[in-house]
Amino acid sequence: MKKWNLGKRGFELGMGILLLAGVFVLSKEVVSVLNTKNGDARVVLVDPGHGGDDPGMVGIDELEEKDINLEISLKLKTCLEEAGYQVVMTREEDKGLYDEGISNKKVQDLQRRCDMIEEYEPCVTISIHQNSYSDSSVKGPQVFFYTDSEQGEKLAVNIQEQLNTDLEVERPRSAKGNTSYYLLKKSKGILNIVECGFLTNPDEAGKLITEEYQQKVAQAICQGVEIYMDDVER
Ligand SMILES: [Zn+2]
Repeated sequence: MKKWNLGKRGFELGMGILLLAGVFVLSKEVVSVLNTKNGDARVVLVDPGHGGDDPGMVGIDELEEKDINLEISLKLKTCLEEAGYQVVMTREEDKGLYDEGISNKKVQDLQRRCDMIEEYEPCVTISIHQNSYSDSSVKGPQVFFYTDSEQGEKLAVNIQEQLNTDLEVERPRSAKGNTSYYLLKKSKGILNIVECGFLTNPDEAGKLITEEYQQKVAQAICQGVEIYMDDVER
């Protein structure tokens, strides 16, 4: 009797795995079909920076960037889905995109993020990061776009403005062009890097670890994407 039960459970587990694999393959296909056959597919790729062995910036109280990036990215995913977008994430747990044991994990990790952009052809890609600086008084969000990308700049201006307003930023920054960040330089399509705040500023770091503030940041970015997309689709 016991044996039969185990066998049944094993069978159910096997079927469950098969089903999950099927759903995964199907959903991947749906995304690419929508992209290639429907010009109006609204896929957004959300990229929580760093992960696994790469903590990113380490701020006050040993706060690691990778964790906050993921929290904000997951909230952004929910927000975008509620707004009707299909969201693809580069990671959904504390894990890099590199293979264990490889010598240059960082390059492989970044290259795979670029590969995902090429594979899914999203309307826009949002890469979530946190900043740090030697002067702990420096704070506030900063959005980067690839200098030569007109659309990237438009998106960045929208997101930056929304962050400045919603987070009531004391000294608001303007969106900034950049040609040296790997993802901006090497990826295809429209991509923004959103540095949500400074982990080296005690006040901002204290806010960035709270659910409430993370939600505010995610919502502002989501709104910025929506305003940009509405403008493009008009
Ligand atoms: Zn980073």
